[in-house]
Amino acid sequence: MSSAPWYLNAERPSLKHQRKWKSDPNYTKSWYDRGAKIFQAEKYRKGACENCGAMTHDAKSCMERPRKKGAKWTNMHIAPDEKIETFELDYDGKRDRWNGYDASTYARVIERYEARLMKRRLMRANRWTLLRLRSVFVPLAEGAREL
Ligand SMILES: [Zn+2]
Repeated sequence: MSSAPWYLNAERPSLKHQRKWKSDPNYTKSWYDRGAKIFQAEKYRKGACENCGAMTHDAKSCMERPRKKGAKWTNMHIAPDEKIETFELDYDGKRDRWNGYDASTYARVIERYEARLMKRRLMRANRWTLLRLRSVFVPLAEGAREL
């Protein structure tokens, strides 16, 4: 701005330098490859998790149920190594609660609700037909008893 309005005080120092106004060119909105495995070991490796045998964490931070005898001692059911990724996310990216959300999975939610709705409609229809049938047959049966 060559001719800034008088109220901007363009000559005086501003706080512009504190703002990150340039966006990173190689910024991606990628997200974690959830549940991805890298390597499946056949036997226990030294330094791996004593509980499950994965190399990527220790027994203290293991997400698996604590085994009665860990993989270190049994050498059985060694868990595969997890894929560990790190991202350079910006302020908004770190707080984006919908990052990594696959919108196509919402079709499953809709499917479930529609199934419930159809079931409810069927129940209502059945109740109505039952009531109608009873209003026809119960008086007939009572009439038959009187005879
Ligand atoms: Zn583990």
